[in-house]
Amino acid sequence: MARLAYVNGRFVPHNQAFVHIEDRGFQFADAVYEVIVVIDGHLIDEIGHLDRLERSLAELRIAAPVSRRVLAILLRELVSRNGVALGTVYLQISRGVAPRDFHFPVGVKSSLVITTTRVNQRFTSPEKLEAGVSVITIPDIRWLRRDIKTVNLLAQVLGKQQAGEQGAAEAWQVDGDGFVTEGCSSNAWIVTRDGVLVTRQATNLILNGVTRLSLIRLAAAQGIPFEARPFTVNEAYQAREAFLSSASTFVLPITAIDGHPVDGGKPGPLCRALRQSYLDYAVKEGRSALTVAV
Ligand code: PLP
Repeated sequence: MARLAYVNGRFVPHNQAFVHIEDRGFQFADAVYEVIVVIDGHLIDEIGHLDRLERSLAELRIAAPVSRRVLAILLRELVSRNGVALGTVYLQISRGVAPRDFHFPVGVKSSLVITTTRVNQRFTSPEKLEAGVSVITIPDIRWLRRDIKTVNLLAQVLGKQQAGEQGAAEAWQVDGDGFVTEGCSSNAWIVTRDGVLVTRQATNLILNGVTRLSLIRLAAAQGIPFEARPFTVNEAYQAREAFLSSASTFVLPITAIDGHPVDGGKPGPLCRALRQSYLDYAVKEGRSALTVAV
């Protein structure tokens, strides 16, 4: 079966799926996106992703190309046509196609592109989960509206490349005062020496991860002590545990930061427990969201 993409009203073969050269996403990064995980054909944390999409669109004053209800149907349709049991669905909305001009074009319809990927067995190998991953720290050189999920990801492209070249899975970005903001495509977490779960509070300085929000709810339900506050790189070096969260990694243990082993260099118990809670929640929520979202 040929892989399909959805582009502005049509399902087309993936290798013939094109946007115009004057699409504003291409010329100005004037576009927003979401990545939603698919498990057993269900869209995980769909409500959170569609809520954040609407917020990103509103912040940039981009009109939604289709209603939320139609979007939910299109996402499912592509997942089903591409036979995705396990994988991701990616959607991108740009301000549309118009002659290159910085001002918002008038009377132009926003563009919608949807693609899917398939994952064979697992998102993360058991070996990787057992060993944990390492991160490096880098200066956060991004703009100040990181709360909007735009396709302007150049700083993150550079950060991830640097991480990869240094054998790390992720780069934690650090603000001018030495506090970690977030990873290039994930939120950053630590567990302090006295067992408090910490991640930075959601402001304009980080993307409020949908996985992050679900983890905060799950931790609260289990009575896990939690603080939403910035932490320094030094505090992270000394943490009892560290991990990252994102839609496609869920919760991933970090066992080294800038080459410093995190508490003996083994994934910690709270990280493992939260990963399991998230997976349990995701599968359950994925099934029930089917009726809620459509
Ligand atoms: N922070 C950044 C900069 C990201 O790009 C992402 C995901 O792509 C996240 C955090 C995690 O967000 P989510 O849990 O919604 O995938």
